[in-house]
Amino acid sequence: MPHYYQPEIETASREEILAIQNEKIVKQVKHVYENVKYYRDLMDAKGVKPEDIQSVDDIKKLPFLSKADLREAYPYGLLGTDLKNCVRIHSTSGTTGKRVVAFYTQHDVDIWNDCCARAIVAAGGNSGDVCQVAYGYGLFTGGFGLHGGSEKVGCLTLPMSSGNTERQIQFMMDLGATIICCTPSYAAYIGETLAEQGYKPEDNKLKAGIFGAEPWTEEMRRSIEKSLGIKAYDIYGLTETSGPGVAFECCAQSGMHINEDHFYAEIIDPDTGEVLPEGSKGELVFTSLDKEAFPLLRYRTRDICVLSHEKCACGRTHVKMSKPMGRSDDMMIIRGVNVFPSQIETVLLNEGYTPNYQIIVDRVNNSDTLDVNVELLPEQFSDIVAENQKKERALEIAMRTMLGIGPRVHLVPPHSIVRSEGKAVRVIDKRKLHD
Ligand code: ADP
Ligand code: ZN
Repeated sequence: MPHYYQPEIETASREEILAIQNEKIVKQVKHVYENVKYYRDLMDAKGVKPEDIQSVDDIKKLPFLSKADLREAYPYGLLGTDLKNCVRIHSTSGTTGKRVVAFYTQHDVDIWNDCCARAIVAAGGNSGDVCQVAYGYGLFTGGFGLHGGSEKVGCLTLPMSSGNTERQIQFMMDLGATIICCTPSYAAYIGETLAEQGYKPEDNKLKAGIFGAEPWTEEMRRSIEKSLGIKAYDIYGLTETSGPGVAFECCAQSGMHINEDHFYAEIIDPDTGEVLPEGSKGELVFTSLDKEAFPLLRYRTRDICVLSHEKCACGRTHVKMSKPMGRSDDMMIIRGVNVFPSQIETVLLNEGYTPNYQIIVDRVNNSDTLDVNVELLPEQFSDIVAENQKKERALEIAMRTMLGIGPRVHLVPPHSIVRSEGKAVRVIDKRKLHD
């Protein structure tokens, strides 16, 4: 029996959702036009006035915002309210360059917490749960986002933050955590450490994990579910839109419901900016419908995914987004071929290896090289060189089939690749050093 945090909104009819969105967008565009000079200038340059936006159908008339705008307007240029009305600042992780900052009023924090509460309830959470928040606390949005959601649901909240894995495990076991929230790469590390300490998956009380903030594959999901003995749910968000909880997975585990009463989503062609029809793969663009302090309109996420309005088994009616398998800027172009780290992860986990790997891209004699270091489990480790070489060749063939180009694979000893406590760094692109 599915449970909802806010059923009247989460299961609202399409007409009801549209009515909420249409009402909010008119107010929001006015709010932005009056208070954010940076965006007013963009609208003026495009010849769009607030009166031109009467419903969400008109959103396509508005100019886009991108990370470059956020960097240009740093720190206060996109602020939608007086600083004295703000209660919080967060910052992006800086995965792809200079960090940007986002501001929150108490109203913004409350809405964000509601979004995270919906995610926790969708993962089976309720007031009887002990929720271990092992995302980083601080400027990163993960910790505080899930923390606020967990308290709203009434869970007993364990604000562990990330890192100190021994202590995570001690509290998880001693206090009987039933839900854990962290990045999928950190969840995999916790699972690995539990096994090393002699625990079996059934020894912990965990039932669910809420994992996000970085791309992860279905294969990774199954591997974490097995090692922790849980159901693993995806959660998506970005600092620019508040943080995690913009979209979350339900019991169907097939895409994440976007909180459409707060965010309007579009899929565009990343090259032309043209809005694509439903079912097309493209860049996700968000318009915040009711944020006060950092009210971004048509923000280009650079995340590539597909939207679907198909009926969901959980009863929620909000549109679902597919797992973004990496941002447009995670994509590596190697000898002219597009390669995503997630494709390599899929091959490795399917072939029985761990998710501990590192991708090294370089340029030698004007030609791109792709090397993948793959860590072995102790039981996979062999002293016989020929045996290792055979495994390396087999992996190279499997990756060539998946990617269309052949990498060089190097098996490396157990524990030689550094583990992630937050967002994993999978790729080292040395070509950038030569440019
Ligand atoms: P940064 O952009 O510096 O990494 P954020 O911490 O705000 O800063 O990260 C937001 C980004 O993280 C998203 O745009 C997306 O690329 C990625 N992300 C967040 N959640 C997920 C998820 N569930 N699956 C894949 N990628 C995700
Ligand atoms: Zn659902």
